[in-house]
Amino acid sequence: MFQSVVSAPPDPILGLTDAFKADPRADKINLGVGVYQDEAGRTPVLPAVVEASRRVVERSDTKNYLPIPGDPAYGLAVQQLAWGEGHEVVESGRAATSHTPGGTGALRVVGDFLHQNLPSTTLWLTTPTWANHPAIFAAAGVPTKTFPYFDPQANALDLPAMLAAIKKMPAGDAILLHGCCHNPTGIDPTADQWKQIADAVYAAGVLPVLDFAYQGFGDGLSEDAAGLREFTRPSAELVACSSYSKNFGLYRERVGAATFVAGDAGRCAVVQSQVKRAIRANYSNPPAFGAALVTTILGDPKLRKQWEGELAEMRGRINGMRKLLVDKLAEHRAPGDFGFIAHQRGMFSFSGLTEPQVAKLKSEHAIYMVGSGRMNVAGVTPANVDRLCAAVAQVLG
Ligand code: PMP
Repeated sequence: MFQSVVSAPPDPILGLTDAFKADPRADKINLGVGVYQDEAGRTPVLPAVVEASRRVVERSDTKNYLPIPGDPAYGLAVQQLAWGEGHEVVESGRAATSHTPGGTGALRVVGDFLHQNLPSTTLWLTTPTWANHPAIFAAAGVPTKTFPYFDPQANALDLPAMLAAIKKMPAGDAILLHGCCHNPTGIDPTADQWKQIADAVYAAGVLPVLDFAYQGFGDGLSEDAAGLREFTRPSAELVACSSYSKNFGLYRERVGAATFVAGDAGRCAVVQSQVKRAIRANYSNPPAFGAALVTTILGDPKLRKQWEGELAEMRGRINGMRKLLVDKLAEHRAPGDFGFIAHQRGMFSFSGLTEPQVAKLKSEHAIYMVGSGRMNVAGVTPANVDRLCAAVAQVLG
């Protein structure tokens, strides 16, 4: 039977890592996959995570299954981190959190839930969006459509086009927004724009789903949750997908969460019973270790403070590289104004480079980025920035 199977194309992002690894050129630069790298190009285990690992191993006394939604202490920690301690949503019982394998797992659980319980719901995605979004929801059987988000001319949010599109969305559809650090553009709404977006979404009777994969990578833990808080209006329904791959550096431990917020605690229990059913038929229950690390760090004031410092360091390095990129592109006389790179947030910059220019950077300069021109700013270091900017100036010139 396998004779009839045809090869799948390589993943547009992860496939790039394979090509990078196979490239023999010594001065190659990887700006592809969205993984944090320090100044030396390493993706280290955060010291707060090292300490938490020691504690978790020391106190672990069973490998028995976790409940379907994971450890309740983790669920509470997820809510407190996203909304802030004491927030109405955390206190009221109208939110239920399930620990999922990464943010990807959270999105898939949301997809399964929509497909099984709200089969006529179409999910609207930003143009552009993370390449895996359409694939995840297609796999879950959720129909998707797209709406405008980014204005490439202005390198900014296209708010008028976005609001006009939301107005036309049928009631009962759902919209997927990036909670912060939009991937791939790095363009986030301001506080006032979030308000206008939330007004439009709720007026249209559309369910907001916030993909919150980079909390703390933009302006800070609380600052980055401004959009989520704006959507959390009294008795409003929403869904939040958290990922701790980036902000805790726990990529391979697969730590994320899906939080369903209902109008009241009673509705929330009904919704959560269906979420649990979807999880049971998917991966049954989550892997314990990574979530135990997050619960340990967030639950210990000293460790938490240490982690917040380590997160601030990652954020500071990325934002520092943004400024350096702007300066160095000017120094190497790259044509155009790249000031917008300093205003983008999160790990990525939509550089404006075209697909042929990206291909040329790879073939002639051993510089790897996603075909759309998305650059992982965390791959830029003081040691490689000159070579990078000289090469960009050359392909643009
Ligand atoms: N959403 C977005 C927008 C992302 O960029 C990512 C990671 N690339 C994820 C979700 C999922 O992250 P993970 O599954 O690794 O936690």
